[in-house]
Amino acid sequence: TKQQKPYKRVLLKLSGESLSAETKHGIEAERLQAYVNDIKEAQKMGIQIGIVIGGGNIFRGVSGTNTGIDRYSGDQMGMLATVINSLALCSALRAAGVEADVLTAVRMEPIGEMYSKPKAMKLLKEGHVVILSCGTGNPYFTTDTGAALRSIEIEADAMLKGTRVDGIYTADPEKDPTAKKYNTITYQEIYDKKLKVMDLTASTLCQENDMKIVVFDMDTPGNLLAVLKGEEIGTIVKN
Ligand code: UDP
Repeated sequence: TKQQKPYKRVLLKLSGESLSAETKHGIEAERLQAYVNDIKEAQKMGIQIGIVIGGGNIFRGVSGTNTGIDRYSGDQMGMLATVINSLALCSALRAAGVEADVLTAVRMEPIGEMYSKPKAMKLLKEGHVVILSCGTGNPYFTTDTGAALRSIEIEADAMLKGTRVDGIYTADPEKDPTAKKYNTITYQEIYDKKLKVMDLTASTLCQENDMKIVVFDMDTPGNLLAVLKGEEIGTIVKN
């Protein structure tokens, strides 16, 4: 792995499922602690860290429609799920001595202060880890889109997207053993080859605003810290 300069400011996207290990439900203490350790290391190096966390381990709006919950309400439930995960991460960070805050894209003080760019920037510059919850604050969006939006707003050097695979492949590596990994790829290639990286709303937003994405495997211990330090693992997506 090549070593680059560490990032100055990043937006880390964690999926909800990444908090729950094998069961894919709830929050597992060990996973939470592993993330906290890496985030703490990176914060000590002076890297400004914004985090957007998903809610899939608790609820997804689309799956609710199977159980008679309408999409609008289901998405609101999903957004609240991101708040639950954000509070868990924030609390675990604070317990480890890391200054951290949860901002919400939907007003719900005192659970978290309402997000605004100036508020987020102020906290980041003070060295706080800032957890940006509720995704975009609107139904019909994903937390990937929330992460894309916030990474652009906070002028991050890159959006770091933690997944279960170690990058982007020519085909789904969990299904096709001949699939090959890209070290770098352009947005155009992703569209042309119809590769599944993020939903199109999220990737188009990044493309149009020239935001670099690093897709990497969150499940391998130490990877998160390596990516935060700027090591070239995973796949880099850019224009
Ligand atoms: N959600 C939403 N608007 C947003 C972000 C999320 O309505 O801007 C809802 C949506 O229902 C989604 C759920 O929150 O299914 C959880 O987010 P996501 O599925 O992106 O979580 P992840 O897959 O990253 O765990």
